[in-house]
Amino acid sequence: MGVYAAAPAAVWQTQPVRAAVLQQPNEPLAVAEVDDPEPRPDELVLHVDACGVCGSDLHLSDAFPLPGLVMGHEFCGTVLDAGPATSGFAAGDRVTALSLRTCGTCAGCLTGRPPKCANVEMIGFQRPGAFAERVAVGAGDCFKLPDALTAQHGAMIEPLAVGLHTVDRAGIEPGDDVLVLGAGPVGAAVALWLRHAGAGEIVVSDPVDHRRALAEEVGATATIDPAAADVRSAFESITGAPPRLVIECVGVPGLLQHCFDVIDVDGRVVVAGVCMTPDQVLPVNAVTKELDVRFSFYYRTRDYKHTIAMIDHERIDPLPLVTGEVTLDELPDRFQALKSPTVDCKVLVTPNPGHR
Ligand SMILES: [Zn+2]
Ligand SMILES: [Zn+2]
Repeated sequence: MGVYAAAPAAVWQTQPVRAAVLQQPNEPLAVAEVDDPEPRPDELVLHVDACGVCGSDLHLSDAFPLPGLVMGHEFCGTVLDAGPATSGFAAGDRVTALSLRTCGTCAGCLTGRPPKCANVEMIGFQRPGAFAERVAVGAGDCFKLPDALTAQHGAMIEPLAVGLHTVDRAGIEPGDDVLVLGAGPVGAAVALWLRHAGAGEIVVSDPVDHRRALAEEVGATATIDPAAADVRSAFESITGAPPRLVIECVGVPGLLQHCFDVIDVDGRVVVAGVCMTPDQVLPVNAVTKELDVRFSFYYRTRDYKHTIAMIDHERIDPLPLVTGEVTLDELPDRFQALKSPTVDCKVLVTPNPGHR
């Protein structure tokens, strides 16, 4: 454990911590002892209370050889120690952090857009993440959690902020009918915020039964099984017109074309799905319909603050999205299982069970 508070000389005394560590692609995570995260002077060390498993973790673990990496970027924790160049945080504070380590001084940071930070580091990818007992984070990237928020809430702030930013990018007006493609954690969070924002019909398309049910629980007003129905005509039979706004929350090849095909003329497509392989589209449909296509990435700082406030004021409830909780030792098996279709939405790991 660190001794910044006790030693003005700021000597960090390390002690091994347990973490779930990435092996070679397609191998399960391994629980191992790794070095204690050594904080920079402007960082906090957190005792990790909960960390969500993200679809991008599942994808990255098999897509790139990154042996030794500790993933995990959707988390909350309790401050163990605060570096000498931090202020406003003390041991025992419960916080959540951006999933991006930012510099706090560049144009991106100063305009509240963390993914545009010129010196950004992705937590759990370019620096160690929170599938571990402890994690170091930039104090400037942290937000205190109100007492009413549990660790489950704290770990859901990041994915909810991503959903909120997507809805922000969509620019909806109250009463707009929306088609959401995909009811995974992002699609479900988008449905939740669309409901909150006063959308009209919120129609979610997903081929998996339990995902559609979950989307309806948190915000969808209707759902479509795209394996059983023509999406455009199913939407039209629900709302009276083809979709004018389509939000893509899947991120696999073919989905962009699907958006162009199902949408009405003059429509708007918002792409939140992160497709990491080449994807072919036939532009003519998008051209003749004069579509607007825009993309959405991560969140703004204000999305974190608003998400925390809305949970604190009991105006949104993300907990139906949490479908499982595992210990660090149970994580490797569950992580593997999540790579195949399961009934899970968001699974949280609690690396320090019993702590809070
Ligand atoms: Zn994520
Ligand atoms: Zn910056």
